[in-house]
Amino acid sequence: MTQIILHADMDAFFAAVEQRDRPELRGRPVVVGGLSDRGVVSTASYEARVFGVGSAMPMLEARTRCPDAVFLPGNMKRYVEVSRTIFSIFERFSPLVEGISLDEAFLDLSGTQRLLGAPAQVGQKLRKSVYEETGLAISVGIAPVKMVAKIASDEAKPDGLLEVQAHEVRDFLGALPVGRLWGVGPVGRQRLERAGYRKICQLAQAEEETLRRALGEWGEWGVGLASLARGEDERGVEHSRVASSYGEENTFAQDVCDLEPLERAIRRHAEAVARRLRKDEKLGRVVVLKLKLGRRRSRGPRGYPQHTRQCILPSYSDDGSTLAQAAQALLREFGCGEPIRLIGVTVRDLVTRGEAEQGQLGLFEAFADTPESEKGKAVARRSQLNTAVDELTSRFGKGAVSWAGEALLEPAGLHDRAKSGDTET
Ligand SMILES: [Mg+2]
Repeated sequence: MTQIILHADMDAFFAAVEQRDRPELRGRPVVVGGLSDRGVVSTASYEARVFGVGSAMPMLEARTRCPDAVFLPGNMKRYVEVSRTIFSIFERFSPLVEGISLDEAFLDLSGTQRLLGAPAQVGQKLRKSVYEETGLAISVGIAPVKMVAKIASDEAKPDGLLEVQAHEVRDFLGALPVGRLWGVGPVGRQRLERAGYRKICQLAQAEEETLRRALGEWGEWGVGLASLARGEDERGVEHSRVASSYGEENTFAQDVCDLEPLERAIRRHAEAVARRLRKDEKLGRVVVLKLKLGRRRSRGPRGYPQHTRQCILPSYSDDGSTLAQAAQALLREFGCGEPIRLIGVTVRDLVTRGEAEQGQLGLFEAFADTPESEKGKAVARRSQLNTAVDELTSRFGKGAVSWAGEALLEPAGLHDRAKSGDTET
């Protein structure tokens, strides 16, 4: 059965959110990214792209090309909020959504025709919903092959839709340069061009033997690419279950009154959460402290009063000590006057490491007290330390490394099961 795959991708996402929220920026070149001299561009608005400014370009170059642009550090929290909204819209259009980044996903529309209508109609409805609910433009590509759907959404930008039907795939791909194929970077492109393959159609038509001869040791790679160039790629949409929070909690064997053991338990949970975040290459920004009080107010499992307190960190973090300090401060603020039965630490508002590093959004804020010239090193040292601890812990088990002040506390019912993200809180 032919697959029908829809690729949806927000237009100039970060910059578009800024222009939406600040009308004075509309129609002006806007560049979001790391503003320091070592920073890079995360997103440029279409007005800035006219000047040749694009993603991943060094910020210094962007400033030279378009000195009149508005340069912004970005607001990842806001982008994550919008991302949640668009992904909830995606889920209304397909049971199978594969998130690629904050603003981009594949949706499987195979077999949804009877229920939802023709694919192009579904795509237009999706675009309309995203616009009505976020005020932002999204482009859509539809094709029987993932790569083709992604290229189609690119071609449809800005604010458009392009459907490539099965019988159109070869013509559509054929006219494009080989560099547009998945898996062809600048080096691969040069290799192909030197062998005489500039356009995808040339690769698609090439005889296997000729291709092998022309590409030498890269022959097998070329043969694989040639079938991709003909649109022969069966990869389907893979469900991505994006964890929205990571948490650890324990019920104490005996209710605890003193601040000190409570803070130790928090530290232990924070370190465990941080380890899981780092393992999955994620960072979080909202720390939630959960407390269950020891004195039962009513019958049943919900009889113990439960409280949560949360705070937003100055920057995204996967560092146990940063998370612990935040949760410990919440505990002191809560100022509990009665015994605690359960304590938990959860981190929400997650982004991937790549997202956090894009434009170094907030990554250096945690080191506000460190001199400017030392910040990079301080961040690197902290993350090296964390990596080393992760390795030790996985090699020797969780008891192998304990932090200064983290005496082992053996609570009843500590959840130590293997887990990554918690699906929802
Ligand atoms: Mg995008």
